[in-house]
Amino acid sequence: MSGRIEYISGPVVKADLPGARLYELVFVGELKLFGEVVRVQGDKAFIQVYEDTTGIKPGEPVVRSGEPLSAWLGPGLLGRIYDGVQRPLKLIFETTKTPFVARGIGYDQAPPLDLKAEYDFKPVVKQGSEIWPGDILGVVQETSLIEHRIMYPPLPGNTPGTVEWIAEGKYRVDDVIARIRTKHGVVEVKMWHKWPVRRPRPFKEKLPPVEPLITGVRTIDTMFPVAKGGAASIPGPFGSGKTVTIRTLFLYAQARIVVPVLCGERGNEAADALQGLLKLKDPFTGKSLLERTSIIVNTSNMPVAAREASIYTGATIGEYFRDMGYDVLVSADSTSRWAEAMREVALRIGEMPSEEGYPAYLPTRLAEFYERAGRVILIGREERVGSLTIAASVSPPGGDFTEPVTSNTLRFIGAFWPLSPRLAYSRHYPAIDWLMGFSRYVDTVQEWWIKGVDPEWRRMRDTLQTVLSREAELQEIVRILGTEALSEAEKHILNTAFLIREGFLKQDAFNPVDTPSSPKKQVLLMKIIYTYYTEGLKAVESGVAASALRELDIVKRIPRLRMEVTNDKVEELEKALEALKASIAELVAKRAV
Ligand code: ADP
Repeated sequence: MSGRIEYISGPVVKADLPGARLYELVFVGELKLFGEVVRVQGDKAFIQVYEDTTGIKPGEPVVRSGEPLSAWLGPGLLGRIYDGVQRPLKLIFETTKTPFVARGIGYDQAPPLDLKAEYDFKPVVKQGSEIWPGDILGVVQETSLIEHRIMYPPLPGNTPGTVEWIAEGKYRVDDVIARIRTKHGVVEVKMWHKWPVRRPRPFKEKLPPVEPLITGVRTIDTMFPVAKGGAASIPGPFGSGKTVTIRTLFLYAQARIVVPVLCGERGNEAADALQGLLKLKDPFTGKSLLERTSIIVNTSNMPVAAREASIYTGATIGEYFRDMGYDVLVSADSTSRWAEAMREVALRIGEMPSEEGYPAYLPTRLAEFYERAGRVILIGREERVGSLTIAASVSPPGGDFTEPVTSNTLRFIGAFWPLSPRLAYSRHYPAIDWLMGFSRYVDTVQEWWIKGVDPEWRRMRDTLQTVLSREAELQEIVRILGTEALSEAEKHILNTAFLIREGFLKQDAFNPVDTPSSPKKQVLLMKIIYTYYTEGLKAVESGVAASALRELDIVKRIPRLRMEVTNDKVEELEKALEALKASIAELVAKRAV
């Protein structure tokens, strides 16, 4: 089970290590640095090392663990801040007294879960109950916000059986809490288990993405929605609002559990983002957001290999909470930094570089990550559903969306929220480019809106989008020929587009009246602008000037409504809608006299 180092190249070590398996966890050198086998060639293994390899020499030992790199899953995950291979940063800090840098600190010194911690276990099945892998055995109240559901884990060898004994009361994470009699003998179940991070956890069936994940952001929910179990990409250059967008999702998206994976490189991007997250309060309960969060963070002074592993660790923790029946949101900010880490390792293990130096397996790796999203029927005897939604940012160099990470990401995601530096510069936030954005979920989630919120949802949404693209065409004409070249109806389109941008798309993430916007408020704001457009167009056809419509007092109020009307006072918006209809009718009537 052991071998010797042949050479060291930055974060990569080549070793003579017979029998090594791909993705096996190994310990490298006298210091027992953490590493993972990423390529096997006969008896030789290439290992990506999760710690600084300085000072390690050829000839030093490498020891195999016989296990793949795995996440520890059980009570204690929430509120923790981990590195890319799930070592709790606080513990590493306390052990080494230097922030974030740890060498030779394995899971024995910095365990991902405190196995001695006690929890009050409440069984939900009885002795003699039939039980399948995936079924919930009991629950512990992990934080005041989240009940941690302990399952009969879907590990190899765990076959259906009956409960021979089940615990009740205070137990430690590492204690046996149930014995399951199966055809092959008795399985002892603890509150925690390990799961290989690169292997998706099983489910019965993927469901169609018909339920929107409401985020409270109008440009997202109404224009480019993401479904529960869907995947969204947020590309944008530095300063365009990626961090603020992801922060808004964490705060307001209707997900019970959020798992941010922070991959920064420049300066202390990740550390700053982490500081920001730690301060957040859950808007629904006022408690710390950490009570329903498990954070993975890679700062710039951490070795790149841990960054490569981090998104798989995040996805595995996300799937574990999904398996409890929760709606989970996993985000990665930014996947470009993750891909750069993969590129560096690939070059050092001698992979043939493909586009821009990235290995040929970049698309496969991206697909493997995004495919872990889904709203699924869970395994187990009872039919239960859980979802994992992924929202990940990309930071394309120079804002070029044709570069390999952005362009390949587009193949695997359903919602695209591109951030425009031009919009950010003019302080149009969120700076999602409405002409480039898209969502493949509009068709699947429309039923939800139409049945539950407003039968006109789809028609209004599509009309807004058409007006915005007509605006872009008309602006071209205005640029060349001036406003005089436009008909009254065309001027009315430009005036409507102005209202859409100012009164609907713009949304201040830091204004508590504006954000989050409930589905009902979103629809009413949209309906007011839609009515201005359609009723206004009829008025223009009967001879009313576009400027007369624009100058109506009620119309001047439209851009401010989003910041004046709170989610619980939407009847104000209904009143505004009636006032608008009356004012337009009055103009038409005057014209007819
Ligand atoms: P990035 O992560 O892309 O570098 P940030 O998310 O840090 O960019 O955004 C830069 C700045 O833009 C923020 O500090 C904030 O002032 C402003 N901003 C971005 N999005 C919004 C928003 N939705 N509402 C209000 N301000 C925003």
